[in-house]
Amino acid sequence: MKTVTLVDKTFGLSHPESEILAAIDKIAEEMQRDLHDKKPIFLVVLNGAYMFASDLMKRLEFTAQLQFIKLSSYTGTERSQDIKELIGLTEEVKGRTVCIVEDIVDSGATMQKLVAHIERLGADDIKVCTLLSKPNALKYPVKLDYVALEIPNDFIVGYGLDYYEYGRNLRDIYTLIP
Ligand code: 5GP
Ligand code: MG
Repeated sequence: MKTVTLVDKTFGLSHPESEILAAIDKIAEEMQRDLHDKKPIFLVVLNGAYMFASDLMKRLEFTAQLQFIKLSSYTGTERSQDIKELIGLTEEVKGRTVCIVEDIVDSGATMQKLVAHIERLGADDIKVCTLLSKPNALKYPVKLDYVALEIPNDFIVGYGLDYYEYGRNLRDIYTLIP
């Protein structure tokens, strides 16, 4: 098995690029069918989703807007930690079809907050797209409209996802070897 060592951990190749791209082909077809006449706005969640978004977007052949957003924790308030602030959203989403593009949904906590936030901004319809989902780790109910790959409850890196910011450039996905 091909392995990669990042900092203090070793990861084994689990999803080669060809498998990732075939999975993206499939969801791109679904999106093409569902969203081609909606003029959606895609919100790509940085940093992890950058590589996924690039491969996904070039497969879509309809009019759409694209914004890169980032979630950051508020600092300096008592209620801090789990409240996330949204950076980078400059277009009006009120009345729009919004499609969130994430790298991975693990517990679902992040996605649930993000969806609630976009709802409060008055979006007409919100779709959730994720490269990876860990169904066995899901604790917060979120409706996932487009999932490229379902994976077990393991820690992965590559294809945009990091371990201490390393591994984002890997073209394949690797799983932590315990
Ligand atoms: P959630 O809020 O769904 O529990 O976690 C979502 C975030 O946790 C993701 O956006 C990602 O940043 C991080 N995360 C969850 N699982 C993994 C994983 O297996 N590998 C990496 N690199 N990040 C993960
Ligand atoms: Mg993420």
